[in-house]
Amino acid sequence: MTFAPELLAKTVAPSLDLTWEEDAIALRRDFHAHPELGFEETRSAAIVAERLRALGMEVREGVGRTGVIALLRGEAGDGPCVLVRADMDALPIEEANDWEWKSENKGAMHACGHDAHMAIGLSVARLLAEQKATLRGSVKFMFQPAEEGLGGAGKMIEDGLLLDPKPDFALALHVWSPLEKGLIGVAAGPVMACTDEFRARIIGKGGHGAMPEQTVDAVLMAAHTVVALQTIVSRNVKPLEAGVVTVGKIESGTAFNVIPGEAILSGTTRAFSDDVRALLEKRVREIVEVQPKVFGGESELTWITGFPAVVNDADVVERLIPTFEEVAGEGNVIEFEPTLGAEDMSVVLQHIPGCYFFVGARNEEIDAVYPHHHPKFNIDESAVLLGVRAMVEATKNLLG
Ligand SMILES: [Zn+2]
Ligand SMILES: [Zn+2]
Repeated sequence: MTFAPELLAKTVAPSLDLTWEEDAIALRRDFHAHPELGFEETRSAAIVAERLRALGMEVREGVGRTGVIALLRGEAGDGPCVLVRADMDALPIEEANDWEWKSENKGAMHACGHDAHMAIGLSVARLLAEQKATLRGSVKFMFQPAEEGLGGAGKMIEDGLLLDPKPDFALALHVWSPLEKGLIGVAAGPVMACTDEFRARIIGKGGHGAMPEQTVDAVLMAAHTVVALQTIVSRNVKPLEAGVVTVGKIESGTAFNVIPGEAILSGTTRAFSDDVRALLEKRVREIVEVQPKVFGGESELTWITGFPAVVNDADVVERLIPTFEEVAGEGNVIEFEPTLGAEDMSVVLQHIPGCYFFVGARNEEIDAVYPHHHPKFNIDESAVLLGVRAMVEATKNLLG
């Protein structure tokens, strides 16, 4: 199977001697072949830092453990600072694709497209560095570790990401497999959900499977608790608001004929608004506390606060839509339907007005149809090039 053959018939080492398009695809394939999990992105970060230095930027490494920051100063006068973000981590998934640039690291795979994000970020850096004589203000590049649930963006903020200079605007993108190649999806307001996590320990009394009267069955209490939790969205959340309660993991029991004395439920809640988020937490807490008591058991709940919703600034989005239309072509910029997936870029967008947009990567002809986090996840590589063009022009628009 070959992708973007007109661009790069043979996989070669990335280099500034290649055209930027060839280089972008070569970078993406190189990162894809060498995936690294959250906070372990040492090879990726080293390549990123070396490339940004070669472009003449001031580079800081080890930001938020394995993150990289670089500053590009425009030479055409003062202006705003625009932050451009790319995430770097892969997932603990065994790749089921088979091509030249398949993952060489067992048990790790770029199944979310962050390989493409690094290639896009470095190509944007290359193109903007070439134009710095005509740019005002500055561009701060943020190469983030550990987006997949580990909070790398927050760690970078703790390490001074948003200081010296403080960005005036922030931009980020995701290549998106549900969206057809060639399209850009964008929307004002929330585009991704806030996410929290819970762990409920349900405590009963174990015993013989044939003598239930001597036990307090933790499996039964867990089952009732799961069912009761599923009434939160259907009965407590307003029908026109979005919310999710998912119990993704149940742990209990050791044998078919033993009634277990303990069960652990692990789950996640998602919402777009703070009100629904708070309501979900309140109801999960109430149900987990009360439901096991109905059967004579007890419970303990651990609540792990996650990330806020990804909220786009309406003015920034309005300003960028014509730019995206110029890049993608009229009719190819669509209103993005918010997803209840989550993203820790939200902690940057809480502080800095900005835009998180989506670049179409779906192409049935090359089987690029699988969802993110799937072992056969794949993108149409034209998404890398469209992502670069969109990010370069959006950055220039915001620099003014
Ligand atoms: Zn992901
Ligand atoms: Zn992702």
